[in-house]
Amino acid sequence: MNAPLPVEVLKQHLIDPEICIRCNTCEETCPVDAITHDSNNYVVDPDICNGCMACVPPCPTGSIDNWRLVVRAQAYSVQDQLGWEELPKETSLPADADAAPAPAQAADAQAAAAMPAPAMVAGAAVPPWSAAHPYVNLYTHKTPITATVVGNYRVTGADTESDIHHIVLDFGEQPFPVLEGQSIGILPPGTDAQGRPHHARQYSLASPRDGERAGYNNLSLTVKRVTQDHGGAAAHGVCSNYLCDLARNDTVQVIGPFGHTFLMPNHPRANLIMICTGTGSAPMRAMTERSRRLIGTNEIGKLMLFFGARTERELPYFGPLMKLPRDFIDINLALSREAGQPKRYVQDLIRERAGQVRELLADRNTCIYVCGLKGMEVGVLDALREVMMQAGEDWSILHDVLRREGRLHFETY
Ligand code: FAD
Repeated sequence: MNAPLPVEVLKQHLIDPEICIRCNTCEETCPVDAITHDSNNYVVDPDICNGCMACVPPCPTGSIDNWRLVVRAQAYSVQDQLGWEELPKETSLPADADAAPAPAQAADAQAAAAMPAPAMVAGAAVPPWSAAHPYVNLYTHKTPITATVVGNYRVTGADTESDIHHIVLDFGEQPFPVLEGQSIGILPPGTDAQGRPHHARQYSLASPRDGERAGYNNLSLTVKRVTQDHGGAAAHGVCSNYLCDLARNDTVQVIGPFGHTFLMPNHPRANLIMICTGTGSAPMRAMTERSRRLIGTNEIGKLMLFFGARTERELPYFGPLMKLPRDFIDINLALSREAGQPKRYVQDLIRERAGQVRELLADRNTCIYVCGLKGMEVGVLDALREVMMQAGEDWSILHDVLRREGRLHFETY
């Protein structure tokens, strides 16, 4: 008599819909396009995922790191996962399931090994070695924390199209420990077109770890009111409009904090190169303010900022930024639509300041942070490559070192 064939077991990769903040990082990172989403959930296609783990370290919440042993023929489909409100419970496998990797999975592993190496992710998946330890996911969709609005004002010229607000949230007696470079999630009230609660939107902290006002349990955000979609058509951004319209003493539901890699170094004399556009200035403001509060100690190194906007009046925090001492921070403003001036982008200024950039890059105490529009990543990398090439140095070697040592970080959206 023929022995029954063992049942194939799959270690299925799943995303926890209750913790996921729909930031798209996993979909962008996946080298084999196994991750997809709809307006409800981000999900992993079991027929494509090869378990390479490339998406796991960059996920700010850890929602990506969920696995279930299932019978391969009964794996949760993409359609199943798109409809989930929570992860299914673990189920026991049938007695005849083969606990060793089933032939198909072994074949997957071989196929994965034979595949070309995944495209290199531009930024580091680890924080700088000396970064302070961040808390993440203290508050979730099921257990959000209530913050009170203690300030909300516009930080771009009233006559410009770019309506960006500085919003201060206070947590009172409740613990909400954060570090510069982390973000929080905001749960906007109301429901989406399907009648489900709106998912959380993520916002970078604009204030340092000890509060927007030092010693207070508060933090600030830099929020751009979305009135157009990425294609320029009229749109009403759910969360950004909600936030920009908040009044003092209104309350907000917050989750987080999130992020364990885009963190500043915590050792004396570390240098920061900060490259940003628009609201990408939020984490740079947090890091700059952290450093400013340390002026007079031997803690801080050199700070170099490349900041892009269309005009000075569309540049958030322009006034306070220009008041910072020149021997504390080297400010380089790239304006692309200032009347009577040639168009300049951050990458142009990086090239112009090649000597100083190279000097900082040669120092192992230097970390680079890039935040803002999605498209800026390529331009910045090209400029850095060129700066190194001009001196006959190989950018690809340095790039690899910067990634490995947690010294090059991107946050674009
Ligand atoms: P939605 O209702 O989600 O979208 C409305 C429409 O506008 C959609 O068509 C959408 O595709 C489009 N759209 C969404 N965002 C934009 C945009 N920025 N520009 C043009 N069209 C858009 N935003 C900030 O303002 N400040 C921050 O500090 C900040 N930090 C972030 C950090 C991270 C890690 C991530 C992933 C995102 C961050 N964002 C930040 C973006 C923010 O999370 C929201 O996506 C943004 O506020 C739009 O949300 P919304 O609900 O208003 O728009």
